[in-house]
Amino acid sequence: MEFTADLKEIIQRTHDVKSFRFNRPIGFDYKAGQFMFVTITVLGERVRKPFTMSSSPTEKDHIEFTKKLTGHDYSNVLDKMVVGDIVDIDGPYGSLTFEGEYDKIALLSGGIGITPMISICKYCADAGLDTKVTMIISNKEHQDIVFGDELDKMERGNKNLKVVHTLTRAGDDWQGCRERICDSMIVREIPDYKEYMFYLCGPPVMIDSMVSILDSLKIPKSRVKQESFVGY
Ligand SMILES: Cc1cc2nc3c(=O)[nH]c(=O)nc-3n(C[C@H](O)[C@H](O)[C@H](O)COP(=O)(O)OP(=O)(O)OC[C@H]3O[C@@H](n4cnc5c(N)ncnc54)[C@H](O)[C@@H]3O)c2cc1C
Repeated sequence: MEFTADLKEIIQRTHDVKSFRFNRPIGFDYKAGQFMFVTITVLGERVRKPFTMSSSPTEKDHIEFTKKLTGHDYSNVLDKMVVGDIVDIDGPYGSLTFEGEYDKIALLSGGIGITPMISICKYCADAGLDTKVTMIISNKEHQDIVFGDELDKMERGNKNLKVVHTLTRAGDDWQGCRERICDSMIVREIPDYKEYMFYLCGPPVMIDSMVSILDSLKIPKSRVKQESFVGY
């Protein structure tokens, strides 16, 4: 579906990540984990880029995407947008989706690759699913964790949700994991990992690394879904 939408809310998530919300038009149906193309005018030209919905299909009044602000041209135009500004949207697309079809899912993300995972998590909570969800979220520093408060709240209210943060450049005060996502972390945090469906999202280099880790753990390719944020 293609439509023009005006910005109804902008949420500063971290020092360099913002969410952009629009009214959800009637007929815009999507699955948790899908993405859409957002077209804006950048230096006089229409430029179109893909962004995953960080909202859940259960949120009827709005759709949202969440962008890491990179300092590049497209990003700078978005960063300067204000409520009432207009974008063109085309979607939904993508197959990194969850609709309740697996009993146990592991969501492994790096950086802004959290966006499909937060959509899936919200969907599970709102739809009252008893799916067992384990998230392993990798970032550099504490200040880079996007949706940290939302995830804390969801984890407190849902015994089936486990959230593990790992920070590769953590300060001395960080009590949690400090490694990159690796085989021993998966075995430790998800002892019954062989029963899980794995969802991977992040920069291409991270996806490659996680695919080979899962391969070394003898997880069949049919139990791995992935989205690479090319251009990230
Ligand atoms: C299916 C899908 C879903 C996505 N979902 C999201 C999402 O939810 N949130 C999100 O933030 N992003 C998402 N992305 C990525 C997004 O589409 C953009 O590619 C990303 O945000 C970077 O866009 P940009 O305009 O800020 O940077 P770009 O200008 O596209 O830069 C991207 C990278 O290219 C390199 N680069 C660019 N210009 C130069 C230059 N002049 N010289 C050297 N190197 C350069 C840099 O390494 C830079 O980091 C998704 C991508 C895909 C494919």
